[in-house]
Amino acid sequence: MNASPAIAAAPIRQTPGPAARHAGGGRLELVGLERAFGSYRALDGIDLTVERGEFIALLGPSGCGKSTALNCIAGLLPLTGGEIRLDGRPIHDLAPEERGFGMVFQSYALFPHMTIRKNVGFGLAMQGVPKAEAEGRIDAALDLVRLRSQGDKLPGQLSGGQQQRVAIARAIVIRPSIVLMDEPLSNLDAKLRLEMRAEIRAIHEAIGSTTIYVTHDQDEALSLADRIVVMSNGLIRQTGVPEDLYDRPVDVDVADFMGFRTRVAGRVADGSGTVEVGGSRLVLPAAARLRAGTPVMVSVRPEDLVAVRDGLGEGFRATVRSIEYRGRAWFGSAVLGESVIYFRADTSLAHGEPVLLRPDPLRTLVFEEAAR
Ligand code: ATP
Repeated sequence: MNASPAIAAAPIRQTPGPAARHAGGGRLELVGLERAFGSYRALDGIDLTVERGEFIALLGPSGCGKSTALNCIAGLLPLTGGEIRLDGRPIHDLAPEERGFGMVFQSYALFPHMTIRKNVGFGLAMQGVPKAEAEGRIDAALDLVRLRSQGDKLPGQLSGGQQQRVAIARAIVIRPSIVLMDEPLSNLDAKLRLEMRAEIRAIHEAIGSTTIYVTHDQDEALSLADRIVVMSNGLIRQTGVPEDLYDRPVDVDVADFMGFRTRVAGRVADGSGTVEVGGSRLVLPAAARLRAGTPVMVSVRPEDLVAVRDGLGEGFRATVRSIEYRGRAWFGSAVLGESVIYFRADTSLAHGEPVLLRPDPLRTLVFEEAAR
């Protein structure tokens, strides 16, 4: 009998044997973490506590310091200031192997001439784990990433996704209290990335360790993490559960990074939430707390700003600059003075066509300009 589609499609949820679960601990504290390269401060004072068993995503644009933070935690980069504590003990002076964390990088970094089993068991051999125990732990780790039957192959005989699963097995076989992942899915194609996301989360739950995951992909962070830490310029800008980051970014830059692509400057017109913006007057609940005359930046996601051809009423009157079909709808950009506005449309629109862009007032954010 065939398995039902629901069962066949379910992500792995195996109960790991004792060979796969980590030894305990895993509460990590970063206290005033600093790392300078010459006069450049790649980390400028990071304070963060990661609870045992938590899945944390470090999210931010290229160059914001995510990998530097991860490498400092791993012990691959010495600090130039601050402390790292694991379960209350300072660990920042320990060598990487003394910290015992599992690491998964963007490149799989497998030994090409060693079998999958040997690759996975490499760390155990280094630790001098007896052969019989090592074999059991390799089996458990390969079971967890569903590659037990591939153990005698060489890495070059596996697909990219399978190789990344080997890298994960190699990281978790040492029973790390903390697993560090640096953009582990960025070399995979879009479909495989989605599948691997579900697997990574399932493995995290199965082994019970703490995971810190670096990414610049907000969808990945939203779907994987218990808490997201948004960084820019070597600083933490916001920490929160995915829903907080998605709906309530604290400032216009975090909002931009979380997909609120359109920013238009405006001014609060009265105390009941009317904003003069882009030549129009919009009633935006998010502005109701602000005093009349306050300069603001209005931010909205493309999917919450609908373009209509001959609309009347409130909205931005702009000129279509580009448009593309994305299956369920068209998405495009339009020009309004100095601003570029990103919108959704239910029909195709012509380049140069005038349109009315109507933001969803409940999903439009308003930031005080002075607060930037
Ligand atoms: P990406 O997503 O592109 O990997 P990131 O957020 O991980 O970016 P980092 O690699 O942590 O960024 O780099 C942070 C900053 O520190 C960058 O400006 C980078 O140029 C700088 N930097 C990183 N490593 C070094 C180094 N070894 N020497 C000098 N500058 C460095």
